[in-house]
Formats: sequence, C-alpha cells, structure tokens
Amino acid sequence: MPRPVVLVAEEPAPSALGVLAADFELRTVDGADRAQLLPALQGVDGVIVRGPPHIDAEALAAADRLKVVARAGVCLDNVDVPAATARGVLVVNAPTSNIVSAAEHAIALLLSVARRVPQATSSLKSGEWKRSRFTGVEVTDKTMGVVGLGRIGVLVAQRMSAFGCRLIAYDPYISAARAAQLGVRLVTLDELLRESDFISIHLPKTPETKGLIGERELTLVKPSVIIVNAARGGLIDEAALAKAIEEGRVGGAGIDVYDSEPCTDSPLFALGDSVVVTPHLGASTDEAQDKAGTAVAKSVKLALQGEFVPDAVNVQSGGGVAEEVRPALALTEQLGRVFTALAGTVPAELEVLVRGEIAAHDVQILQLSALKGLFTDVVEQQVTFVNAPLLAEERGLQVRLTSTEESDDYRNLITVRGTTATGEQTSVSGTLSGRKQVAKLIEVDGFDV
Ligand code: NAD
Repeated sequence: MPRPVVLVAEEPAPSALGVLAADFELRTVDGADRAQLLPALQGVDGVIVRGPPHIDAEALAAADRLKVVARAGVCLDNVDVPAATARGVLVVNAPTSNIVSAAEHAIALLLSVARRVPQATSSLKSGEWKRSRFTGVEVTDKTMGVVGLGRIGVLVAQRMSAFGCRLIAYDPYISAARAAQLGVRLVTLDELLRESDFISIHLPKTPETKGLIGERELTLVKPSVIIVNAARGGLIDEAALAKAIEEGRVGGAGIDVYDSEPCTDSPLFALGDSVVVTPHLGASTDEAQDKAGTAVAKSVKLALQGEFVPDAVNVQSGGGVAEEVRPALALTEQLGRVFTALAGTVPAELEVLVRGEIAAHDVQILQLSALKGLFTDVVEQQVTFVNAPLLAEERGLQVRLTSTEESDDYRNLITVRGTTATGEQTSVSGTLSGRKQVAKLIEVDGFDV
C-alpha cells in the first residue's frame, strides 16, 4: 500500500518531521513560489504551511486528494478556511504553541523598561559609563494590572506573582472565583488604570478592544506606570501613549505590536530611555516554532489516520445531526453572540431552551452551538465545537439544555438565557422562518423584536 503523502511547504521543523516520517511519504516544496506550490499539491493528502504559502481556493482546487491543511502557528490568515471546509478539508493550527513565548516577552519588555537594560547596553557599548542615568525601579511589592486574563494573561500573572507583585485584572468574561483561584483580584478597567504600577495588555483585537486604552484612560494612570503591549497593535492608541510619556503622565512603555505592521515609524520610536520596542517578536522563539511544528504534525497524523483532531478549527458537528436540526446550529450560534454582546460578560449559568417541532430530534448539539457563539467575540483562538465546552469550564460556566415540543407562537423557538454571578439576567430568542429557514431574532430580555 502506498503511504499517504504529506507536503511540507516551508522550512520543516526537525521535530515535526520526526512525528511523520515513519508513517507518511514526506515531500517538500518552497511554498512561497506559487509556480512550484500548485503542481506540488497534486496527489498529496496533507500539507503543512507556516508563513507565506497561501492555501486559497485556487490551491485547494489544485489539491485533488487533500484531506488536511495544517498551519504551524496560530494565525490562519493564509488559509481560506471556508473554502477548505466547503471541500471537506480539515484545517488545523497550533493555538497554544506561542503563549509561553508571548508571556515571557511581555515580561522581558516590562523588566527592560523597569531597569533600562537596552538603553544601558547601547550606552555602554558606545563607550559611556553612566550609572546614574539608568537607575530603575523594582517590581516586587508593586501592583501589576493584567488587562485580559486569558491564556497569556494568566501566564504573565503567575510569573509576576513569583516576582512578588500584587495582581489585579480587568476581564469581564472571567469569573471572580476563577480569578481568585489564580490569586488575582478582578477590578474595573478604571480601577486597574488608577491602581497599577505596571499594566500588561493581553486582549484579542475586537471592535470592543480596539483603542481600549486611549487618551481618556491615560489620564487615569499613575505617572510612574509602565505599560506593556505584546498582544495586538491598536489596543493602545500609540499617539496618545507617546504624548502621555512625553508629558510625564506615563512612566514608560514596552511595545511589541503596532497598529500597522511592519512599522518603522511610530511616535514611540522618537522617545528616549523610557520606551523599549521590539518588532513583533512575542512568538519568535525556537521553542514556539518547534512546538507549533510538532503540534501540527501530530494533528496531521491523527487526521490522516481518521482519528479525532482536537485542534481542528473547522470541525463540524459530525454526521449525527438531523437535517431538521442543522439550520438551528447557525441560529443558536448567532443567539450566543448576541447574548454576549448584550450581557457584556460570561454568565455563571446558561440555559439553552429549544421549543417546537425541532425538539422531537436530538438537539443536544445546540448547547455547543450556543457556547461557540458565546465565546466567538471574546477569545483569541478560533472557537470550535471541541474547545467551546472547555472555555465554559475554565470560566466556571454551568450550562444546560432543555427541550420541549410545545411552542405556542412559533414552529421552532430557541432561547439562550443566562444569569450572571450577581443575578443579572439576559435572554435572547430566535426562530427559523419560512421555507428558506431564515434566522430571525424575536425576543430580547422579554421584549418582542
Ligand atoms: P485569549 O483569548 O486566551 O485571552 C484573551 C482574554 O481577553 C480572554 O480572557 C477574554 O475574556 C478577554 N477579553 C476579551 N474581550 C475583552 C474586553 N473587551 N475587555 C477585557 N477583557 C476581554 O488570548 P491569548 O491567547 O491570551 O492572546 C492574547 C493576545 O496576545 C492576543 O491578541 C494574541 O493575538 C496576542 N499574541 C501576541 C503575540 C506576539 O507575537 N506579540 C504572540 C501570541 C499572542
């Protein structure tokens, strides 16, 4: 039997090749060269990409036997996921491969600003011996504010706790109990800005988080504060930050990411010793690349052996969903998204109530759809049917599904309702209308829409 073929369209990590070599025929191609890539995709079962190769609709069409596309990294900008899904091709990435590297880089930036390490290095290397110019500050016994207590925020908090910092965080989608477990006190954003000696941002970039730290927010901070952004450009207003540092309203900043990249011209670059900048290096470590290569190689192996692939981003709900229930998957997911937008937090309890004819079928999957929607605009990673329950569990969210075939006004009615830890309730309902099963929002917080 010929072995399945895996095409490595990048500089392969040796550890990744080790995972695959025994079971698969490995081919390599310079994926950046389109003229080579397209013919090389013919007859391959899996392809691993890292940087430039674009696996778009054209490339997918050229790949006559492809079953899995793996991106050895986190971002999937260079893979057309909907086109792959439409062709039944599984897409996998390595969502946690760089989180430790990113956390360590944020801390490296913080300590560099606190102790002026890069500036002192260049001063000494240029022949100066100026000790008093580079007097720094300790981090021990200071208040560290983490904005976004997700995967990387938690790693930063844990590490800064070892440095002896008091930890506070702003993250409306994390329960106070979960934060307390981590030794972190949850506060509002304004409280965090007022109380912190150091602030590190670990948010995804969403319409809600873009420009979250702007001119107004920078008027609230201590003048000695050091602000770090190794998350995404644009979360902090760069010009407002530069102005605040110039005017002595902010003590310093460590910045790895910029509104527009590549970036060689930012107002921050003109500032002196109080600013340390790096060109988006958060994930740039040997270990992160190695972990990404190994993780996707394992996923490719699982996929080609027909096994369950936890890191697949386009996992569908499988074949066990009744035709009558399928249109409700997207509706319930949308209701989950609307729920989060309205509630502005993840509830402590969530109920998915399914009423009408649809309830004659197994509708358990709709609980996952609701969770998928609930987290889609909140976390950095692609939310799937697989990781949605884990995200709920991490946040201490209790979820249950109730179904009944009785429904007074609609043939089918789906309600997503939840209660926060402080007792506030949010509820949204929707239905599928007409022969085309158009999704309609029909109720918000008890009011008909
Ligand atoms: P994550 O999804 O695990 O965590 C994000 C956290 O932000 C979640 O806990 C979420 O509840 C919270 N959040 C969402 N919206 C919020 C809001 N409006 N206000 C307050 N909190 C909110 O993400 P992660 O894996 O920890 O990644 C964090 C960031 O780091 C991402 O932007 C990611 O792209 C970036 N990152 C950068 C590098 C780099 O090279 N510099 C490397 C890896 C990751």
